[in-house]
Amino acid sequence: MEKLKKEKYINFKIITIFPEMFHAIENYGILSKAIKKKIINLIFFNIRNFSKEKNKKVDDRPYGGGEGMIMSFSPLKRAIVKAKKNDNSLVIYLSPQGKKITYKKLKKLSKKKCIILICGRYQGIDQRIIDKYIDEEISIGDYILTGGELAAMVLIDGISRFVPGVIKKKISKNKDSFSQNLLDHPHYTRPKKIDGMRVPKILLSGNHKKIKKWRLKKSVQQTLLKKPELFKKNK
Ligand code: SAM
Repeated sequence: MEKLKKEKYINFKIITIFPEMFHAIENYGILSKAIKKKIINLIFFNIRNFSKEKNKKVDDRPYGGGEGMIMSFSPLKRAIVKAKKNDNSLVIYLSPQGKKITYKKLKKLSKKKCIILICGRYQGIDQRIIDKYIDEEISIGDYILTGGELAAMVLIDGISRFVPGVIKKKISKNKDSFSQNLLDHPHYTRPKKIDGMRVPKILLSGNHKKIKKWRLKKSVQQTLLKKPELFKKNK
């Protein structure tokens, strides 16, 4: 287990049986840079290391019968207690039954110093862990994944974008879809013409006032077309 950095922006303590899955965000793109700069810290608690059973078992059969296995109380509890030590972290359980994550919520979570993320597997975790140790259940959508790790990575990525220093230009975040309850405008890059399609002339005009107006118009059009419900949020 890695040691905590003292002056950093955000620590994610991840409780999982598959810490290796997080190589996907540790080794690629903007997040990997933020991790190298220690702006984002990922600290892993492998649940198997907290099992006192033979073969590092972390699951058991459900009371009442039925298919599948349930993550046992004790190893999870020990992992959470260890992760919470010296630290008043928010404990989140990634769960399809949780509140669906939103832009606003990710932004709010980015203000936290430390977040514990619990990744379930199998048929889920013993309810008593949820009752006693979880502050919030968060879902990434109304569908079922095989485990909480991908959901945790979605959360880490979405939260990290709001942490100062992760994305260089503040401006790029303010123009992103959802930031103003509007979707982003269309983007074009070189070449000017390809497969018989041209870049809109206005973008080549150099007239920044007109370009700004055109982009706003396109943002409104995209929103009306694809997510009109966002307008209600502006009222
Ligand atoms: N039986 C559970 C239910 O229906 O609520 C689903 C268990 S799922 C197969 C295993 C784990 O994947 C869950 O414990 C949770 O951590 C994670 N998971 C699955 N879908 C998710 C979602 N939409 N959002 C967040 N986490 C999810």
